[in-house]
Amino acid sequence: MLIIGSHVGFTKDKQLLGSLEEALSYGSNTFMFYTGAPQNTRRYDIDSNLTSLALEKMKSEGIDINKVIVHAPYIINLANDDESKYDFSINFLKGEVKRCEELNIKYMVLHPGSHVGLGIEKGIENIIYGLNLVLEESHDVTILLETMAGKGSEVGSNFEEIKKIIDGVTKKDLIGVCLDTCHLNDSGYDISNFDKVLDEFDKIIGLDYIKCVHVNDSKNVLGARKDRHENIGYGTIGFDNLLKVLYNNRLEDIPKILETPYISDKSPYKEEIEMIKNKKFNKNLKEIVD
Ligand code: FE
Ligand code: FE
Ligand code: ZN
Repeated sequence: MLIIGSHVGFTKDKQLLGSLEEALSYGSNTFMFYTGAPQNTRRYDIDSNLTSLALEKMKSEGIDINKVIVHAPYIINLANDDESKYDFSINFLKGEVKRCEELNIKYMVLHPGSHVGLGIEKGIENIIYGLNLVLEESHDVTILLETMAGKGSEVGSNFEEIKKIIDGVTKKDLIGVCLDTCHLNDSGYDISNFDKVLDEFDKIIGLDYIKCVHVNDSKNVLGARKDRHENIGYGTIGFDNLLKVLYNNRLEDIPKILETPYISDKSPYKEEIEMIKNKKFNKNLKEIVD
């Protein structure tokens, strides 16, 4: 079964219940959210009453909480141990794991980090050290390392680097990978031959580690190392190639999450999910949402 959703909001007042309601309004059967703003680390206490209401509603709507994803804020950087921010990042992620546990969420996506001149080896070493400290306090929240575009000094833009990080993590049952199609394209993996990409991933890391896929088109060409997402079918990857990812039988039952840009301040997700379900490109998307 296709498990499809998008990035949704998470507000102080409605929390998981509000995120769920937004996802349902798009016709989703899963979703991903930041536990606050993606670009900062201000976070609210989790309201257990709202969580219970959301979990009940998920049951009646047939949404599996085990497929719902949290994304850690992208300013967290475990690759750089140069400054006081490193301890802050580690402590923040411990808190994020706790919030996931309170929300019954099993998977948290994390950008591995940017080594900012320390070099890739040192960056990887720092990430491993930080991850092990964070995972020490996790009972059943798995951290998913996202494959990155390779912009700046980002670590994790190829499968070999992700593999090195996984090799250093002690709790192997609590580490996984989130593929991002825009990032794969921008880092040089050709989505038009997605089965070959999966073969390579399987050889280096193992397909079992994939627990989430971010499905985005890209504004840039293969290997551009840029990371600018485009709406489904409007970028250089294209609709048919993204369908092959969405309906790939080796990734069945893996949640697919859209992180495509808003169009004139309006969410494109309902229309994009519709075209994915119909397997028919909607060339009027940018006008219809308008
Ligand atoms: Fe991400
Ligand atoms: Fe992503
Ligand atoms: Zn991105």
